[in-house]
Amino acid sequence: LKSGLQAMLAPVEQPDGVILHQVIEDPQGLPAVNPFAPYMPANIIAQLDEFAQEHPTGRLAVILRPCELRTLHVLQKHGNGMKALDGRLIVIGVDCAGTYPAGTYRQAGTAGREGALTDLLCYSAGDGPPKEIREACQLCEWPAPSGADTVIGFLGTASDGILLVIPGNGRPHSRLELSGITDGPATAEQASRRDLAISQVAAERAVQRAMLAFDPTYSRGDLTGLLACLSRCTLCADCLDACPLYNGELSGMLGVGYSQQRQRPLLSELIDLSRWLASCSGCGMCQEACTHGVALMPFISIVSHRIRQELGVPSLDPLQLVAG
Ligand code: SF4
Ligand code: SF4
Ligand code: SF4
Repeated sequence: LKSGLQAMLAPVEQPDGVILHQVIEDPQGLPAVNPFAPYMPANIIAQLDEFAQEHPTGRLAVILRPCELRTLHVLQKHGNGMKALDGRLIVIGVDCAGTYPAGTYRQAGTAGREGALTDLLCYSAGDGPPKEIREACQLCEWPAPSGADTVIGFLGTASDGILLVIPGNGRPHSRLELSGITDGPATAEQASRRDLAISQVAAERAVQRAMLAFDPTYSRGDLTGLLACLSRCTLCADCLDACPLYNGELSGMLGVGYSQQRQRPLLSELIDLSRWLASCSGCGMCQEACTHGVALMPFISIVSHRIRQELGVPSLDPLQLVAG
């Protein structure tokens, strides 16, 4: 904002401590930006199109967690509504060790939220993911932002009070003027500590996902466990509304707009459905939106990974998420 940005879309801490995604146009609003808070009110990518429409010219910035960045890559790959931002969006990615469900976060109070923030900033793999973090976070594919213009990294270093500001996309340090906002270049040891922490957290979560495959709920051939999970579903579609990648793939099966639509072959709908699930960024906002307690994430995670395996999509490379 101080150096020619017109506006930034970011997580902003409210006076009561709750985080909301807001547009910052005045540098005086910057101190309230909190990209580390262990709470994700929504997948911020859902607001990006409106952000672009409201700011049709000038350079813009957005702060993203790794799952939100994966979502952005999928939409960019498919060319869905991101044209208005072409060439003028600066993406700032932030390491993420997990976030808490809305109820847990809101009820924690100021002291509880500060404790949770410290726990997650200093989190390192070994004891398993903190149990209270969202199920999506316990299964999260990769805790570091991949493909951002600038990355704020803390995994493996925050316990020593060190944040790393990492230029992305091959940008030279001089253009980002990092010398003005940092204490100087990171040491090789600090950089390798972060790399190690990222790979350990990712490996730990890969184990969590692998264990799901043996969970009787999902591995039984008769599907009774899975169907019992889904039996609470009222088909309200709140989960679909919360998904920035959903583009009506289930509307035929759900009968939405049926009278206006030419009926599409079931096979065509199944292909769209499998592409949507394979593109899933793992943000878990679908499950967060469900007020009926349907545990969507284990099911979506298993299905998404199986489809990607079948398609031969490298599971840890968000830039190569699924064919369109
Ligand atoms: S899904 Fe991953 S990136 Fe997203 S909030 Fe959870 S841990 Fe962070
Ligand atoms: S939000 Fe929950 S109840 Fe509503 S359609 Fe989704 S899973 Fe079903
Ligand atoms: S299906 Fe759920 S986890 Fe996947 S991108 Fe959509 S909201 Fe996120």
